[in-house]
Amino acid sequence: MFSDSAAAHAYRKVPQRRCIAKCAQRTCLGCHERDDKSRMRRIVSIGGMITIDYKGSAPGRGGYLHPHARCLEKFAASKTKEFRSLKSGIDRAQRLRIIEAVRGASALDS
Ligand SMILES: [Zn+2]
Repeated sequence: MFSDSAAAHAYRKVPQRRCIAKCAQRTCLGCHERDDKSRMRRIVSIGGMITIDYKGSAPGRGGYLHPHARCLEKFAASKTKEFRSLKSGIDRAQRLRIIEAVRGASALDS
């Protein structure tokens, strides 16, 4: 016989997030946590130039970054030479440019 508390425990194991199947999960280049891509900014490498993909549909290799100061700082300080998702190295100057752009694009979010 299962007690009520065991049943309640099993119930709690149901994932709280409803959109695991529907929403694409991406890994943040800053904190390396997986999250719903709609919560992140997409950055793309086009001809070696890294830009923010505002529409989320630009061609090319893309990476994702939370628009949070914490993640942007980690991204800036990252020792990663090449980002696999972008198939591209990003030097510090470019990273700082990306961070400024993400901050600018996210001004309304915070
Ligand atoms: Zn993050």
